Amino acid sequence: MTSWLMQAIRKIEADFNRSSDTHLIPLVLPAAPGIQLYFKDESTHPTGSLKHRLARSLFLYALSNGWIKQGTPVIEASSGSTAVSEAYFARLLGLPFIAVMPASTSCEKIRAIEFYGGRCHLVDDPATIYDESQRLARELNGHYMDQFTYAERATDWRGNNNIADTIFRQMALEPQPEPSWIVCGAGTGGTSATFGRYVRYQQKQTQVCVVDPENSAFYASYVSGDAHCSCEGGSGVEGIGRPRVEPSFIPTVIDHMIRVPNVASYAAIHFLEEVLGRKCGGSTGTNFYGVCLLMADMLQRGEQGSIVTMICDDGSRYLNSYYSADWLAAGGHDIQPWLLSYRRFFHDGVWQPPQ
Ligand SMILES: *Cc1c(COP(=O)(O)O)cnc(C)c1O
Repeated sequence: MTSWLMQAIRKIEADFNRSSDTHLIPLVLPAAPGIQLYFKDESTHPTGSLKHRLARSLFLYALSNGWIKQGTPVIEASSGSTAVSEAYFARLLGLPFIAVMPASTSCEKIRAIEFYGGRCHLVDDPATIYDESQRLARELNGHYMDQFTYAERATDWRGNNNIADTIFRQMALEPQPEPSWIVCGAGTGGTSATFGRYVRYQQKQTQVCVVDPENSAFYASYVSGDAHCSCEGGSGVEGIGRPRVEPSFIPTVIDHMIRVPNVASYAAIHFLEEVLGRKCGGSTGTNFYGVCLLMADMLQRGEQGSIVTMICDDGSRYLNSYYSADWLAAGGHDIQPWLLSYRRFFHDGVWQPPQ
């Protein structure tokens, strides 16, 4: 083991040691006193999203495998958030970093990557980020991190303070500490794989529900069992929904999937701003739509229980998209009727999506 490698692993562990856990924020729905809802706030990591955990795990995995050495350029295919977090860790280790991303990635994320000293390599077709990353890695004699393949195995799914482990520990003193549902989206699929494996391994009754936006291959693949589903272009919700079924997406540990209209995700974050007093990223809105559907079902059956979902990243990254009236209008997204549906559900427990 070289001293550089020892130092590198120690730097990442020390970064972890300096960090505190993220909050689990309750949201009381007046219409559902028997159901508790919690948001695991992953926006408070140093690099602003749940991808901070993934980037840490991917670097430790690659270092421990001997794939990254002193001076190795690190290349990643990303829709943005992972690249921001990886740029942070690459800088920590003094490694060059290149993010290969769709040209549609928000300027805020591009700025964040460059802030951490990373370089952005933009491509027009989101489906080409994988090949382009591989090509760059070959040319530069670098390492293609490949989050979409390694997310599910780089994370220690049995525990070791992974996201599932921390949620269950934070739930310990709640009225219903074992959630009926955990709701999350899938980008790599790594988070849902960690949740699904963890609840099985720990013998919890908790079910895992994955929400998927329009224009993503995951939902169709889950329903049909066909792992080769694909679609054109990118999803309308940054961070989740993929044009192909990623290798880290593990359908066998997912109990239920819900397809979410983009406009419902956008409206949800505007509604959440009213009740949480803060802006969240689009995928948090997708999560909340799934929560509403599951909660409406529970209410109808007279069930009590708790539901946990995530604030995946902060809304400040999307002021020029989901939070811009012009952007919404240009895309033909009328969030007003959806806002009314969310408000009504929140106060009266009646879930009625717009016609
Ligand atoms: C990556 C990401 C997700 C999905 O997490 P995975 O573990 O990759 O499936 C959700 N929201 C945001 C903002 C993300 O960046």
